[in-house]
Amino acid sequence: MLAQRPPLRGRPRIVVVPPKREPVTSVHMDGLWTQLEPLLAKVAKPARYIGLEDGAQRPDHDPRQVAWLLAYPDTYEIGLPNQGLQILYELLNEHPDAVAERTYAPWVDLDALLRAHGLPLFSLDTHRPAGLFDVIGFNLSAELTYTNLLNMVDLAGVPVRTADRRPEHPLIAAGGHCTYNPEPLADFLDFVVLGDGEEIVSEITDVLAGWKASGRTEGSREGVLRALAGVTGVYVPSLYDVTYDGADLVAVTPRYPDVPEMVEKRTLADLGDWPYPKNQLVPLTEVVHDRLNVEVFRGCTRGCRFCQAGMITRPVRERPAEQVRTMVAEGLRRTGYDEVALTSLSTADFSGIEKLVGDIVRSTDDGPPVSVSLPSLRVDAFGVGIATQLQKARRTGLTFAPEAGTWRMRQVINKLIREEDLYQAVEAAYENGWRRVKLYFLTGLPTETDEDTLGIAELARNCVALGKAHTKSPSVTVSVGGFVPKPFTPFQWFGQNTVEELRRKINLLRDDTRKSHGVQLKWHDPKATLIEGVMSRGDRRLGPVLEEVWRRGGVFQEWNERFDLDLWLDAMAAHGVSPDWYAHRHRTEHEVLPWDHLSAGLHKDFLWQDWRDSLAEVGLPDCRWTPCYDCGACTGYSIEHIVASATPPAGGSQGTGQDLRSSSVPVSLLARRPEPAVTTAGVTP
Ligand code: SF4
Repeated sequence: MLAQRPPLRGRPRIVVVPPKREPVTSVHMDGLWTQLEPLLAKVAKPARYIGLEDGAQRPDHDPRQVAWLLAYPDTYEIGLPNQGLQILYELLNEHPDAVAERTYAPWVDLDALLRAHGLPLFSLDTHRPAGLFDVIGFNLSAELTYTNLLNMVDLAGVPVRTADRRPEHPLIAAGGHCTYNPEPLADFLDFVVLGDGEEIVSEITDVLAGWKASGRTEGSREGVLRALAGVTGVYVPSLYDVTYDGADLVAVTPRYPDVPEMVEKRTLADLGDWPYPKNQLVPLTEVVHDRLNVEVFRGCTRGCRFCQAGMITRPVRERPAEQVRTMVAEGLRRTGYDEVALTSLSTADFSGIEKLVGDIVRSTDDGPPVSVSLPSLRVDAFGVGIATQLQKARRTGLTFAPEAGTWRMRQVINKLIREEDLYQAVEAAYENGWRRVKLYFLTGLPTETDEDTLGIAELARNCVALGKAHTKSPSVTVSVGGFVPKPFTPFQWFGQNTVEELRRKINLLRDDTRKSHGVQLKWHDPKATLIEGVMSRGDRRLGPVLEEVWRRGGVFQEWNERFDLDLWLDAMAAHGVSPDWYAHRHRTEHEVLPWDHLSAGLHKDFLWQDWRDSLAEVGLPDCRWTPCYDCGACTGYSIEHIVASATPPAGGSQGTGQDLRSSSVPVSLLARRPEPAVTTAGVTP
């Protein structure tokens, strides 16, 4: 499963404080390469800005086609591997009425140089000014990148606020997981896409092509936004009025009868119809996840209560195994990579994963060795079978995400893996030759006690002890992140821990692991966790805060060395916004949440009941092995819930080899929907 968030990025080689922002003026030129080239000699990592990767496209721009600039609001090395962006890049370039290029956030050194020379943000593929595109579509996957979005829009020569844009300006759009609550960005985004992008980009292109054909006349901007609001899955924030009563949000209502009251997400019914990307980009410089990535399924029914990705991407849709094998074989042949990752939220849950991994390993027997990695491994689905198959390939470190240190805590968060599951997985790894194991945990979870926190250290020590039977110096890296409640999860009502409380818990762990040989502790900065929490569940009143932080130089806030809490606190104070109110306050059942007019397909009463179950420490088994809970995710997508007739995959309690109703499963797992014994008021923040 996914950890709550990736760790903050490491230190880049050069840090340049951006100068006072000057407006960008010169956007009406084509192909900026001759002006850019001399600047690249003066910046760190110029390869970030060149393009020309294997798989890159250099489209000719026909004025009748809709020109998309797909943007990632972080550096090239973080953004390039993003599969969502690469999929849309290919699909749009196959569309007869569209072309697409890419851009990533220029690091602060190039940003300063561009502004000093009056040059705008540009596309990587043809170095075309960003302002010449019809739409700039951002992929948003982390709250701390929001100010980068504003910076890129400004650098494109586009007014940052939607209200100030004119027909000649590109539309500014966003998709990705953060857009399930885009309200803090409502002042800056023309439209937002909820859910899978494969089908909807074509429908949006059709609307925009009509707008272009009509000449993008004065006053037509609102018209095209109204038309876009009619596309299922598109949300246009400016077409909704927001009502407050004091601090409380009362309602978000459409301003016109043809604008939907509730915006539904888009969901692909069959992943097998979309074997993309077919031409994965091969970077010229080092990037994260630098390997062939093949998505094996979308969605997750495990029901971990902290996991927004799992909830919003339901239901599970698997790619046919034969298609995975073909994509792997063709991808390896084309790219020359010696590593392939089978990606999903919980890859070991893929039907027939052992056979699939075995087939891939065997298919490379005659060539150079290829490493197969399963980046999101559930410990309870990682058994000797998979370990043996992976062991035949080159070994890298293995990462598991138990998420919490005690069984009680794991019941609260519905990560129903037992200690035996973890130990069995770790032992299988060490037995099969791995030396390094990484464990992801969250702290600051609802009802967490010091015993739960210290349980993390205990698990890690026990893993090292197990490893000693197989290797001289086993190593376990414990990575701890502060928990941030996310929209559309059962924990969306929980008030997160304060910075001080998170720091205290991390210190507790640090003291406890200090003398534990073989255990290394890493943690996420609790100060950054606070701002992520404010933005995660924030509303439109945070727009001026974002703008002020950006105007005062607060970009790349997701990078450790550039994050500045004071900047955020000062901006919030200046705009009368309380971080405590947004981050640390428990929400009540009937409170209107800023994302209540958006739908991830999940029933709110299902989430509320699951929240109450969590406080009563009641687990909710994976719905693949039980009758449907009517969470809402399958309804309306023509996806039928089938209770598996066979037993779940081999492993532990949730992906267990036994039926969940067997006596080996704790009774509390089976007794769902009791009268709640605990209310939110009883939660220790
Ligand atoms: S609708 Fe039912 S089967 Fe589908 S994800 Fe929700 S609980 Fe599972």
